Amino acid sequence: MSTAAAWPTFVSKLKDRKEVAERTIAFRFEKPSGWGFKAGQFIDMTLLDPSETDSEGNTRGFSIASGPHEETLLVTTRMRDTAFKRVIKTMPIGTAVKIEGPFGDLTLPNNASRAIVFLAGGIGITPFRSMLVRAATEKLPHHIFLFYSNRRPEDAPFLEELQILERENPNYNLIASMTEMEKSHRSWDGETGVINQEMLTKHLKDAGSPIYYIAGPPAMVKGLHEMLHKAGVDDDDIRIEEFAGY
Ligand SMILES: Cc1cc2nc3c(=O)[nH]c(=O)nc-3n(C[C@H](O)[C@H](O)[C@H](O)COP(=O)(O)OP(=O)(O)OC[C@H]3O[C@@H](n4cnc5c(N)ncnc54)[C@H](O)[C@@H]3O)c2cc1C
Repeated sequence: MSTAAAWPTFVSKLKDRKEVAERTIAFRFEKPSGWGFKAGQFIDMTLLDPSETDSEGNTRGFSIASGPHEETLLVTTRMRDTAFKRVIKTMPIGTAVKIEGPFGDLTLPNNASRAIVFLAGGIGITPFRSMLVRAATEKLPHHIFLFYSNRRPEDAPFLEELQILERENPNYNLIASMTEMEKSHRSWDGETGVINQEMLTKHLKDAGSPIYYIAGPPAMVKGLHEMLHKAGVDDDDIRIEEFAGY
């Protein structure tokens, strides 16, 4: 790890790459010993000497999707036809990238007295996976509700894993909702439609006064933020991570 920068900077090798939903790939990188982060934080990743580049450059911010105790560093992204993503999708296992961070404070509070409500659409799930893995591993007392909206189950990164975590952690409730099941080849008996005030009211009856977390592309964050405002939630009780660049 370099000490020259104001924050930790290191070079890490790609260990593994796996599709976790349609057009969505999870990348596992080596995690250097002695480097740590809080569940919910993000890193900046820079491709070193990539085979192609474009006007957006070689660096992207990614929420860390793995829990702090996991051996490797997991980032997950929607694949789009940009130079950065073409390179990361095809670069050989063992290729090195530069990582800076961790950054950000979208983390769980120490005090578990208030319920936590995560609102995620699609790729916005990444920081929440990290916090949910942490909560299950450390058996945290926080009561966590995850509202997770996707078009179809095929588009929902980590859906099965998030369902399994629900069985492992009695303090966690998953409310997954699909908005375009008519285009799906899978069966679905969960919620349908966008996350709205009615859906929150139905599932948060006994949640008291929760703290809300929103993460994801700016348009999705804006929609959910407005929905919370209309529901009368104060900004003091809303924490946001916007995936600028989408
Ligand atoms: C704190 C933070 C956390 C983040 N976490 C994640 C994460 O966990 N996972 C993740 O995937 N991303 C995350 N991002 C966003 C990430 O850094 C990239 O900006 C994003 O993945 C888009 O990168 P790109 O290479 O596809 O597009 P870029 O090349 O960066 O796109 C540049 C511009 O072109 C537009 N554009 C490019 N391709 C298309 C297209 N096909 N259709 C429409 N418009 C297009 C974009 O809207 C953008 O305005 C995070 C960002 C921040 C700031």
